[in-house]
Amino acid sequence: MKYADIIIDISHERLDKTFEYIVPDELENQVAEGVQVVIPFGQGNRAITGYVVGLHDKPEFDVAKLKPIARVMRDSIAIESQLISLAAFLKRNYGSTMNQALKTVIPIKKKENEKLKKEISLNISLEQAKIELTELLTKKNHAVGKERLLKELLDVDVLDWELATKKLQVPSGNIRDLEKKGIIRVESVRTFRNPHMHKSESKHIVLNDEQEAAAERIKADIDTGRRKTYLIHGVTGSGKTEVYMDVMEHVINMGQQVIVLIPEIALTYQTVMRFYSRFGDRVSILNSRMSPGERFDQFERAKSGDISIMVGPRSALFTPFANLGLIIIDEEHEPSYKSEVIPRYHARETAVYRAHLSGATVILGSATPSLEAYSRAQSGEYELITLNNRAKGQDMAAVEIVDLREELKRGNRSMLSHRLLELMADRLNKKQQIMLFLNRRGLMGFVSCRACGKVLKCPHCDVALHLHKDGTMKCHYCGFTTRATKICPSCGSKYIGSFKAGTQRLEEMVKEAFPSARVLRMDADTTKGKDGHEEILSAFAAHEADVLIGTQMIVKGHDFANVTLVGIVAADISLNESDYHSGERTFQLLTQAVGRAGRGSEPGVAIIQTYQPENYAVVTSAAQDYNGFYEQEIAYRGLLGYPPCSHILGIQVSSESERDAASQADILANLIRKVDPQVIIMGPQDAYIGKLKDVFRRVIYVKDQDYDRLVKIKDSIDSFLLEQKQYRNTTTWFDFDPINTL
Ligand code: ADP
Ligand code: ZN
Ligand code: ZN
Repeated sequence: MKYADIIIDISHERLDKTFEYIVPDELENQVAEGVQVVIPFGQGNRAITGYVVGLHDKPEFDVAKLKPIARVMRDSIAIESQLISLAAFLKRNYGSTMNQALKTVIPIKKKENEKLKKEISLNISLEQAKIELTELLTKKNHAVGKERLLKELLDVDVLDWELATKKLQVPSGNIRDLEKKGIIRVESVRTFRNPHMHKSESKHIVLNDEQEAAAERIKADIDTGRRKTYLIHGVTGSGKTEVYMDVMEHVINMGQQVIVLIPEIALTYQTVMRFYSRFGDRVSILNSRMSPGERFDQFERAKSGDISIMVGPRSALFTPFANLGLIIIDEEHEPSYKSEVIPRYHARETAVYRAHLSGATVILGSATPSLEAYSRAQSGEYELITLNNRAKGQDMAAVEIVDLREELKRGNRSMLSHRLLELMADRLNKKQQIMLFLNRRGLMGFVSCRACGKVLKCPHCDVALHLHKDGTMKCHYCGFTTRATKICPSCGSKYIGSFKAGTQRLEEMVKEAFPSARVLRMDADTTKGKDGHEEILSAFAAHEADVLIGTQMIVKGHDFANVTLVGIVAADISLNESDYHSGERTFQLLTQAVGRAGRGSEPGVAIIQTYQPENYAVVTSAAQDYNGFYEQEIAYRGLLGYPPCSHILGIQVSSESERDAASQADILANLIRKVDPQVIIMGPQDAYIGKLKDVFRRVIYVKDQDYDRLVKIKDSIDSFLLEQKQYRNTTTWFDFDPINTL
């Protein structure tokens, strides 16, 4: 006999409240998580509908008091059912409680006392408004407040009430007056508003042959009822977005809806406007700055059919579209598609599952596909579509590698090589623009030799050792520890140490070398304000600066036609993260950065400065050779049993008691050995950050080629923890195929 947990209402606040019912034998085949059922409820056994959110073999309550499920709602593929199935998928594949999973897919409607913002906009056409203004000005003693307001509204679409009354000093009586006359509109808004546009005719781009072929292939499959996952591997600037939009239009014309995921960092005005100008107010945007209430409202709009396209970061995947036809994941390789909170789901896999539930198509796109996606495309699980050329026929940038070891030999300790300085001077002369790129992730201290480029690595793991304050070097994968050395074991040089660099230092150096150059810096410090990114990028786009210095923020999706030189100041920093992704991340960052150069009419040059010019990630990205990179990287992953060749289950145990965290981790490791003697276990060892806010953290890694085997281990641990009486002061959570070292 099976027993089902059922929620009777998705009115959000009561998600936790489930009721247990008996699954009658004759229904056992039909009852699954997410399925909508009819149950007898309460004293009078009123027939009501509910959703199954959990199934188990042992009842939690007295069986004598349990009632059986009456029947299964067969044809109702309500959107709620889909989302609950999706939650069950998250719980099963990534580890969490059902409640955590439900809260991930169904936004909670919080009762917030949100302040309503009042906004003023024109209620008449621009032409009429101009006439109104002229008429107003002909009147003697006309209200200057009205004049200021009307003038302002000729320039902007929407004006904040606050702004109008305070900054423009328009008396509220003036505003109400114009409102009464029907000239303006005053609205109280809480929801995130789409930027209104004065209907500018959006220029419709004609797809080139390569783009056309890509779009036609997908549309033909859709028309003949084939639902697949496509990977568009298109070089930077190949016009992937135009291909997406072409297929989107096709799907929308069929009366279906579309979800577009883009990395948060690329959710810029530029990108968003491209979707608006093509699809107008059928588009809505989600972003992480929205309050839960605003997010909830956007989801309500989607449910009610108000919009057809949702653009946003990974959480947009749970938009409750009833007739979802297409999911697009742009920059598919981005680490931000993996959730860092429980359940730690990956948007790519979750999207494919959601598409399967809804009968939708999935398009993944990237200039530098993840190893996961590309290997699936190789095996035929995804369909590979390649765009080899830039959309407007521009050449890819020419790439030069500068060996920083040679620079050091020549006595140049600056972050700027001779060659880079030379080209910068040339570009500044020609009034062309320059981007200098420094990898922020590299600020962590790995140990390398500045004379020979040697990076000190763990003998067991082939990842860089990290220098610790206590004078040791440690491996964050296996826990290997050794004393820090003062002399390079490879060449005997004493120029060995942890490499540190910063955008600020770089800015100083540029200003020193070119005192008259106008320099903008974009990093976490300079972009604190709400629109910090936007301001810096538009200033650079308007050529208000000659040089833009930044972290990886500046390599994402921006199209600056006047940039003809890109300098990657320290290419190998990301190469030495103690993480098996480091080669992949480096290749991606270098390729994307190189792709920023030469997007306009002038050809571009990219300079890659590195201590490891022979490293395969550097060599292949300089040659724009994705396949060459892939072949070497996948061989390395296979050899060491890293994803996608194998799967890794990370388990973290934390506690305020160091001893208890350690004991509990040992207990779990032993349990795993008993449950499945075949899998490879690494650890327990201290987490990457072994102690955080006085909580001690231990991790165990379990490796196996079979994902489901790792799921079973997770389930065994879950049931063990449920019964366990000891170590209640420890917390355990899971991370499948972690994207960062735990
Ligand atoms: P990707 O996302 O592949 O890097 P985008 O879609 O951003 O490329 O396109 C790069 C630039 O090329 C954009 O400015 C876009 O408007 C332009 N573009 C794309 N396709 C075409 C085309 N068929 N004809 C002209 N311009 C195009
Ligand atoms: Zn050395
Ligand atoms: Zn190691």
